[in-house]
This record gives sequence, C-alpha cells and structure tokens, in this order.
Amino acid sequence: MKKKLLIIYTGGTIGMKQSPDGWIPVSGFLEEMMTENRMFQNDIMPDFEIYELNPLLDSSDMTPHDWVQIAKVIESHYTDFQGFVILHGTDTMAYTASALAFMLEGLEKPVILTGSQIPMMMPRNDATENIIGAMLFAANHDIPEVCVFFDNILLRGCRTQKVNAEGFRAFESPNLPPLGIGGIHININQNVVFKSEMDTGGLTVQSNLDTHVGVLWLFPGISGEVVRNYLRPPIRGVVIQAFGSGNGPVSHRAFIDALAEANERGVVLVDCTQCAIGTVLLDDYATGTGMAKAGLVSGYDMTPEAALTKLAYLLGKGYSQEEVKRWMTTNIRGEMTITI
Ligand code: ASP
Repeated sequence: MKKKLLIIYTGGTIGMKQSPDGWIPVSGFLEEMMTENRMFQNDIMPDFEIYELNPLLDSSDMTPHDWVQIAKVIESHYTDFQGFVILHGTDTMAYTASALAFMLEGLEKPVILTGSQIPMMMPRNDATENIIGAMLFAANHDIPEVCVFFDNILLRGCRTQKVNAEGFRAFESPNLPPLGIGGIHININQNVVFKSEMDTGGLTVQSNLDTHVGVLWLFPGISGEVVRNYLRPPIRGVVIQAFGSGNGPVSHRAFIDALAEANERGVVLVDCTQCAIGTVLLDDYATGTGMAKAGLVSGYDMTPEAALTKLAYLLGKGYSQEEVKRWMTTNIRGEMTITI
C-alpha cells in the first residue's frame, strides 16, 4: 500500500508568482503546478493531499501564531497520514522547524519542511526537486523528527540555520551531520536520528508559547544602559549571543549588573555563542565564569533559533525560572550536545 502524506503549503518562494510589488504567494497556484507536473504522479511517489494555509505568507511575515496553526493542522490530520511535508519560505524556516520540534510532543512520524530559492514556475528552479526529495524521505523512512530537507540533505530541524541567501545549499546544521543524504540512492544516517525516550503516548501539541522572549547579540562596547532596557519587563527569557565559547565583557560593571539584576527578577538568560560551529564552555575563561555568576545558563551548541523557541515553549508551559533553566540545559529533542 502506498503511503499517504499531507503537504501543508504555508507560502514562500516555492509557490510564488510575480506581482507589481515583487514575488508573492498566490492561493491555488502551487497545487495547480503540482497537478500539472506528472513527476508527482510517478509510481515511486507516495499519495498526497495538499492543505493550504490561509493566508499564504512570505515567511518573513510569520509569527508564533502561524507555528501554532501549522502544529494544529498536523494534530488534526495526524492519524490519517503517515508523514507531513511543510512547504515554507526559507527566511524563517529554521525558526518554524525549531518551534515545531518542541511543540509536537510525542511525535512519531516524519515532519519535513522544505522550500526553494527559485519559484516552481521558473526554469532552473530547485522547488520540484526539493518537494520530491522531502516527500520520498517522509514516505520511506522511519524518522520521527521535525526535519528540513534542502538541496539533497536532510537536517534535524532544531539544528538548522539558513546560511545562504542565494545558493541552493541554503541550510546547514553546523553542529550535527545530516540525518540523510540524497544521491543516486537515499542514505539515512540512522545513528544520528533522534528517538525521544520522553514523550511516549501519542502526539500532544503544546500551543501555548510565551512571546516575551528575545535574542541579544553582544558586541565590543555594548552599552549597559541598552542591555538594561532590553531586559526590562515584560521580557521573560533572553538568548545572549556571546563571544566564542560564551564569553562576555564581564569587567564592564553596568553590563554585568544589568544581567544579574534581570536574573534576580526571574528572567531566564541563556548563553549561546555567536560562532556557528562549537559550543559554550562557561568555565573556560574568567569572561565566561563571570557570565555564569550573573545567572546565565549554558546553551551549549544550540542555534539561536532553537534556544529562542525552546525558551518560548518552556515559559509557555508555566515552569518556574529554575525549571526553565534546568530544561534549557537538558537535551530534549536532539537540539544540543551537552559537554560537561
Ligand atoms: N522571502 C521568502 C520567504 O521566506 C524567501 C524564500 O522563500 O526563499 O518566504
């Protein structure tokens, strides 16, 4: 029996048309192109249905509300389909993939996001290949994870970052090898696939996300006043994008005081690195120890996209500051490599 997939079309370049204002997604257009293309009817392809979100969006316009909408579509169709392919703009795909990885508790089926750099209506597009690849991975392999498929590599969603605004290899997961690679044959790296031991007992969607979260990118000379203002209520959780292995300008009193005061008020501060590759080690340098003393917890090698959406998810569960800190430093979806 052929597997059946639900293709959730959210918008993005993949199905866009030219308008006087530039490229825009147009309802029904992608479905029309997929119906006309006999490649999608080929015997090796799974059966599929298309579910179009309303309104279709350029992903730069997406918000956590849209992540919840996508998660609810998966929940309400979960038993009728063997896997899900989400067609999405590339700009914020890494955020949606990370958010869904946390929100879809107990996921046991593949959920694969893809998009394209060139719209399907154009010659030389990467849209058709990306959708076909995502569909074949979702239909034929036991990958109970939220993934991103792009340019023949399958990546863990909550490890992924958009790294190229122009080339076809738009996504990478700098701290984790691909889960799968498509060549003449499709190869799965089974020992990288994450099977959660936690959420057994079926899919539950955590749709309560706390949006009082943020990311703060440090730079030499950052003003203590700016940091203090950023950390004011109503903020509840902040990813601090620190230098190297998680270091900061700790001898800058106003800066470190602003962090310590926010921590005392209950704000959860997570130390991540500005480097794409490598991890946070807060006991390596005095400039890291100082960050830990101010109350920051290590985000290890989490991407800022994963750290931010994990904070929104954990705070949305109503956990205390201590509980959120504990879960932020615990690997729950394969989002981090913990080094002691
Ligand atoms: N701006 C588009 C989007 O993210 C870019 C793309 O899809 O590649 O929706």
